Amino acid sequence: MDVPVCSEAIKAVDVNAEKFWLVILRKAGVVSKRGRVVDEQRADIFQNLGVPELEFRLSCQGKRENGGGQDHVARAQIWLHVAEASSKGDYIADLSAATMYRLNPFLPKEKRFASPLDSMRDRMDKSELTNRPCTNERCAKGPDGTRGIIESKHPGAKYCSPACRALANRGYSSLRAKKVARRAILA
Ligand SMILES: [Zn+2]
Repeated sequence: MDVPVCSEAIKAVDVNAEKFWLVILRKAGVVSKRGRVVDEQRADIFQNLGVPELEFRLSCQGKRENGGGQDHVARAQIWLHVAEASSKGDYIADLSAATMYRLNPFLPKEKRFASPLDSMRDRMDKSELTNRPCTNERCAKGPDGTRGIIESKHPGAKYCSPACRALANRGYSSLRAKKVARRAILA
């Protein structure tokens, strides 16, 4: 049996099994980021010990849930535990309130915990998202004909107004505009 293909036994006991399959294989050190088996011995260990353990724990969890829907956090702990138990290191970290984010790879997006990285990114985003100039090269909506400031705090916002967006997206492509501008500088 090919390890990168999700075990049918696990699919039967967890609706997210296929989603987490490559994640657990990576964490256990069985496959590379691309899903290629990089450690045959580790693959055997995972197949013979990890998978039965995962199946047993997830089916017990299913009994505890008793048809009341999957308890995502309890299940993420099982996935992480088996991943760590199947990996090279023999250290299995205890989870605390501050380290619950370690379950994130095994949680649906909307159930994830905030990680220290998230709050750092948040702080950076907030400062980076103020005072950004409009990316329309011909924008002159700021004071003294400078570019206007983007008011939206959305990281994807690029223009100061719908008019600028329309102008930038119209036939005259920004790439061509850049080329023309560069040629003008060189000339
Ligand atoms: Zn603008």
